[in-house]
Amino acid sequence: MKLPPFEYAAPATLAEAVALLASGNGDAKAIAGGQSLVPMLAFRVASPMLLVDLRKVPDLDRITIGKDGVRLGAMVRWRDIEDDTRLATAHPLLQAAIRHVAHYQVRNRGTVGGSVAHADPAAEMPAIAVTCEAEIAVEGASGARVISAADFFLGPLTTALRPDEVIIEIRLPAWPAKRRWGFQEFARRRGDFAMAGAAVFYDVDQSGKAANAHVGVFGVGDTPLRLRDVEAVLNGQTINANTIARAEQATAASVDPADDIHASAAYRRALAGTMVERALKSASA
Ligand SMILES: Cc1cc2nc3c(=O)[nH]c(=O)nc-3n(C[C@H](O)[C@H](O)[C@H](O)COP(=O)(O)OP(=O)(O)OC[C@H]3O[C@@H](n4cnc5c(N)ncnc54)[C@H](O)[C@@H]3O)c2cc1C
Repeated sequence: MKLPPFEYAAPATLAEAVALLASGNGDAKAIAGGQSLVPMLAFRVASPMLLVDLRKVPDLDRITIGKDGVRLGAMVRWRDIEDDTRLATAHPLLQAAIRHVAHYQVRNRGTVGGSVAHADPAAEMPAIAVTCEAEIAVEGASGARVISAADFFLGPLTTALRPDEVIIEIRLPAWPAKRRWGFQEFARRRGDFAMAGAAVFYDVDQSGKAANAHVGVFGVGDTPLRLRDVEAVLNGQTINANTIARAEQATAASVDPADDIHASAAYRRALAGTMVERALKSASA
C-alpha cells in the first residue's frame, strides 16, 4: 500500500531532531525502526507532514550497564538486547520478555524508544518498563525531563510525550543477583502480540519469604498494569502453590479487560490469572 506524502529529514544531532519536530507544530513525527509507524502511514492512521529519522543521531543505540541499573538508548533494537550476553545477569527479565517480540525481521529493526512511544497495550517493553519502575528520559524544545513509566502510558497509543520530544533512553533500576523472576505470555501464533502476558519478580528475605514483589500484566487493559493487590498477596509470604493460587485469583479480580474480536473479557481475565500463575511458578522453581 502506498504511503501518504511527507517531507523527510535525517538530522545528525539531537538538537536538530528536536528543532525539526518542534517546527512541525504537532504535525511532525520521529521515525526509528518504522515497524509500527510505516504500517500506520500505510493504513492512514497517521499522516504527518514531516518524518524526522533518528538513525543518524549519535549515542542513542547504546546499552549501558552500571551500578544504578540498565540504560537502554532509544535506538537500541530488539536484537541488540537479545544478543547482549551481559543482560543474562544484568536484567534477565528484560531479555526473556524481548524474545517474545514479533519475528526475527521485526526484531532486527524495531527499537526500544519506538515501542515505548508507540505504547501498544499488548507490547512487551512498555510492560517491562511499568513492572520494573523504569524512568524514561526525554528531550524537547523546552529542555530535558525524566518521566516515570507509571506516568508515561496514558492509554492505547497515547503517552505523556510532547510532540517535540524525543525519547533518549529508558532506565531500568539495578537487578540484584538472587532476584526471582518469571515472564509469560499467550499469543495465538508465535510472534503475534500477546492476548495477555505477565512479568513478575520478587526478592527473597533471610527467612525465605518474598519481599519487594512486582507484578505487571499486559494485553488486558488500555495500558500495561502493575497489580499492587497481587503484590500484597505475595509480600511476606513463602511462594508456594497456595500463595500462587491466591495471586492468580487476585489477578483475575484486579483486571477489567474489554471484549474484542480476539477474545471475550472473561477469557482474557482468566488468561491474565493463568499468566501470573505460570510466571510465579517459573520464578519460584
Ligand atoms: C508484524 C509485526 C509484529 C509485531 N509484533 C510485536 C510484538 O509482538 N510485540 C511488540 O512489542 N511489538 C511488536 N511489533 C512492533 C515492533 O516492536 C515495533 O518495532 C515497535 O513497536 C516500534 O518500534 P520502531 O522502532 O519500529 O518505531 P517506529 O515505527 O519508527 O515509531 C513508532 C512510534 O514511536 C515514535 N518514536 C520512535 N522513536 C522515538 C523516539 N526515540 N522518541 C520519540 N518518539 C519516537 C514514532 O514517532 C512513532 O509514533 C510488531 C510489528 C510488526 C510489523
